[in-house]
Amino acid sequence: PKVRLDASFGSTLPLGGNAAFASQSGALGEIVLATAKAVRLGLSHFVSLGNRADVSSNDLLEFWADDPETGVIMLYLESFGNPRHFGRIAREVTRQRGKPILAVKSGRTRQGARAASSHTGSLAGGDRAASALFKSCGVIRCDTVAELFDLGRGFCTQPLPGGKRVGILTNAGGPGIMATDAAVHFGLDMADLQPDTQVTMRKVLPVEASVANPVDMIASATAPQYRVCSEALLRDPGVDALLAIFVSPIVTDKLQVTRALIEGVQAAGQNKPVLACFMGFDAQDEGITLLADAGIPNYPFPDAAARTLAAMHRFQAYRDEPEGKPVRFKVDKAKAKALIDGAKAQGREWLDGAAAMELLQAYGVPTVESRRVHTPDEAIAFADALGYPVVLKLDSEQVVHKSDVGGVKVDLRSPGEIKGAFWDLQQRLNELGVTDAAFLVQRMVAGGQETIIGAVADETVGHLLMFGLGGVFVELMKDVAFAVHPLTDADADRMLREVRGWPLLAGHRGSAPRDVALLREVLLRLDQLVGDFPVIAEMDLNPFMAAPVGQGSVAVDARVRLSSR
Ligand code: ADP
Ligand code: MG
Repeated sequence: PKVRLDASFGSTLPLGGNAAFASQSGALGEIVLATAKAVRLGLSHFVSLGNRADVSSNDLLEFWADDPETGVIMLYLESFGNPRHFGRIAREVTRQRGKPILAVKSGRTRQGARAASSHTGSLAGGDRAASALFKSCGVIRCDTVAELFDLGRGFCTQPLPGGKRVGILTNAGGPGIMATDAAVHFGLDMADLQPDTQVTMRKVLPVEASVANPVDMIASATAPQYRVCSEALLRDPGVDALLAIFVSPIVTDKLQVTRALIEGVQAAGQNKPVLACFMGFDAQDEGITLLADAGIPNYPFPDAAARTLAAMHRFQAYRDEPEGKPVRFKVDKAKAKALIDGAKAQGREWLDGAAAMELLQAYGVPTVESRRVHTPDEAIAFADALGYPVVLKLDSEQVVHKSDVGGVKVDLRSPGEIKGAFWDLQQRLNELGVTDAAFLVQRMVAGGQETIIGAVADETVGHLLMFGLGGVFVELMKDVAFAVHPLTDADADRMLREVRGWPLLAGHRGSAPRDVALLREVLLRLDQLVGDFPVIAEMDLNPFMAAPVGQGSVAVDARVRLSSR
């Protein structure tokens, strides 16, 4: 620390502090330095990565992991050098060292030149891969550089909250409501204040004030009231964090209020985060300097403060979560290899429908009873053995989305209906000029909740696993969750719970809960499959029918595309 070096062409020297900053953009670097100084964010190191000829952001992460001067790491990235390596070292930094990493990632990945054809493939485009990678290693993603600074100032100066219950203290109603809305919006809870706390505050406040949370001391609030109420709120065991708002009316001495808040915080002596939202001050204001000197970050608007607190809570929650373990199943890898090699030998890009089903079976994924046939008689023989109703569908490499061309006939209840469906499908094939078609006969699965479970190879981060609810949930609402390979059991659990449709699986309004343990297992088995066979470019089970426990959840449609490389 006694030796300082400036090897940049920047004109601003930052203040010393505990945030390390790496920027992949040199031009942004100068602005970062100026902004850091203006908002009094102290830096341990600032690195402009240039063209990364030698030192990468991963190298810096490794160095900062051990650097005692660095407590928070801030990144502006346009690409990942080696995403696998990034994931591993970032997880080490966040989990083992407890240092938060805040990142802005711009330069959204181009969707591959080859148009993705499965749902999983097309949904994975854009920016999902980077988000999934960040999530897997606890990196907090910021949408903008401004947000990066907001969060950075909170993480650098304040302890992490023990929970998500926030107490709000204000002298103005509007900002108090804004802060409350923002806190709830970002996933925090409003603390329920203990009677003792309310009594303490009531003693110093006028009757018009509200001592419920948000505590509105009204515009006449004085410095001594700020002093008493901030201390009381912080001492309340039901309060995990304090957001103190002050709108400066001309009658109140701003500096006195600032000092009173600082005194209240110090008197409380709690290890809880305190964020200020002293509105209408400018950056040079003495009050802001006082707050900064006391280590309390100030935000011009309540939503930025609430967002920061919420991110701090999420980071604490991430660190409290069990880390999760990789899971390996006993599978028939030789069988899977034979199927994949067979398809390659035939020059196929897509496995045929029957082979895709067999591949799943080799990896222990339950599939519907299914047979590949060429004639109505074969179909009827299989249906007679299986029992009615059945489903008849096209199986052709030239038809990727079968129902789009009328290629799926469900609920066939007799040999006569099978013959009719066969005839229809033949017509469709003739119209489409498809020559390679066979047909699949399947048991008709009733009453399952359709889900989609898939994997896709992303050009930067490797395989991504995907989970979502089928039908309109995935097609219209894009309600899906992604995670990067390799998954842990905890990752798979998180994916299931992350989709908005989760209540439909957990049991919603009397509907039976689905076999979510099996869904989790299927995700992990697919994860193992794509890990064993990186040649799988994309695959999805769409739908995988999720039934209640023990009632036969199965995949009824599977697509597997092999990479041409
Ligand atoms: P594609 O996705 O190529 O259009 P699918 O095989 O997924 O073809 O069939 C389309 C839809 O038909 C499925 O989403 C599902 O709703 C229904 N379906 C297909 N096979 C079955 C089956 N065996 N049992 C019940 N429903 C089925
Ligand atoms: Mg389908």
